[in-house]
Amino acid sequence: MREEIKPDVQAFVKAHGRPPGLGIVLVGEDAASHVYVRNKLKAAEDVGFYADCTRMAATSSLDDVLREVERLNRSERHDGILVQSPLPKAMGAGAAQKVFDTIAVGKDVDGFAAESVGLLVQNRPQLVACTPAGVMEMLLREKIQMAGARAVVLGRSDIVGKPMALLLLHQDATVTICHSRTPDLAATCRQADILVAAVGRPGFVTPDFVKPGATVVDVGINDVRDATVAAALFPEGHPRLAAFASKGSLLVGDVHPSVDQVAGALTPVPRGVGPLTITMLMKNTLKAAQMSAAGRHPVS
Ligand code: NDP
Repeated sequence: MREEIKPDVQAFVKAHGRPPGLGIVLVGEDAASHVYVRNKLKAAEDVGFYADCTRMAATSSLDDVLREVERLNRSERHDGILVQSPLPKAMGAGAAQKVFDTIAVGKDVDGFAAESVGLLVQNRPQLVACTPAGVMEMLLREKIQMAGARAVVLGRSDIVGKPMALLLLHQDATVTICHSRTPDLAATCRQADILVAAVGRPGFVTPDFVKPGATVVDVGINDVRDATVAAALFPEGHPRLAAFASKGSLLVGDVHPSVDQVAGALTPVPRGVGPLTITMLMKNTLKAAQMSAAGRHPVS
C-alpha cells in the first residue's frame, strides 16, 4: 500500500512544487511513543513526504502543546498534524481531547477531532482514525464478506472501538459493540463472523470466544513482562517463550494464540494491524494535502 501511495505523492510534488507535509508533536519520554514516532517519520520519509517532529519535555504545560498545535495549524508546510498519545498524566484527563479539538479539521490526520468523527457517523468520512481504517483496508483486500455478516467489536474507545463499529456498519455488517459491562461476553463474541478485539489485555480472547471459521482481527498491542502471563500464552518450548526468556518482554495481542485453531483467519501480533495503522496515516496525510491544495474544507 505504501508503494501505491508513492506515484500520487510524486504527482502532488509536480503539481504543487512541494511534498505533502506531516508535523508530529511528541511530549515526554514514553518509550513506546518514541518508537511509534520514529516509525512514522521513517514511513513518511519513505513515501516522499516532508515530516518533522517537535519534541517537548514531559514538564510542558497543556498550553505549550496547544500553542505548538496552533503554530502547525498556520504552517503552510504541514498538511497533517499528529500529537502522539498518551500525553503526560500530569496534563489532566481531558488534555488529549483539548488537543484533538484544537487541530484544524483539515489537518486532523488521526481522525480524532469531533468534526471528523461526525462526518464518519454520517457516512461521509474524510479523515478516518488510522487503526480502524487500516482494519477495513485489510478486510476489503482480503475479500472478507462484510455485507450481511455479524460483526462484534470488543472495546468501545474513541480511537479504535467506536470508529471500527461505524466502518463495519457502513459496509452493511450487523454490528455489536462489547465492553467491560457486557454480560456473557464469550457467547456474544461467538456469534461473530468478524470479531475485532481492541481491549488491551494480553490473550483475552480465547477459543471459546470464537465461532469456527470466523475472521478474527487482533488490534491489541500488549507489552508482557510477567513470566506467568507469557507462560499462559505459549506452550512450553515455544520459540516466543525462549525470546521472552532472553529479552524479558514479549509483544502480544488481545487474542490468545490458540485461537488460530478455531478461526478461519487471524491477524498476527506483532506485524498485523500495527504497520497498517502507520500506512493509513500516510494515506490520510496525502488526502489532507490534496484537500488543502484543492481549497476544499472537509465538509464541502
Ligand atoms: P482503551 O483502554 O481505550 O479501551 C479498551 C476497551 O476495552 C474499553 O472499551 C474497555 O471497556 C474494554 N475492556 C477492557 N477490559 C475489558 C474486559 N475485561 N471485558 C470487556 N471489555 C473490556 O484501549 P484502546 O482502544 O486505545 O486500545 C485497545 C488495544 O489496541 C490496546 O492494546 C492498544 O495498545 C491497541 N492499539 C493498537 C493500535 C495499533 O496500531 N495496532 C492502535 C491503537 C491501540 P470499558 O469502555 O467498559 O472500560
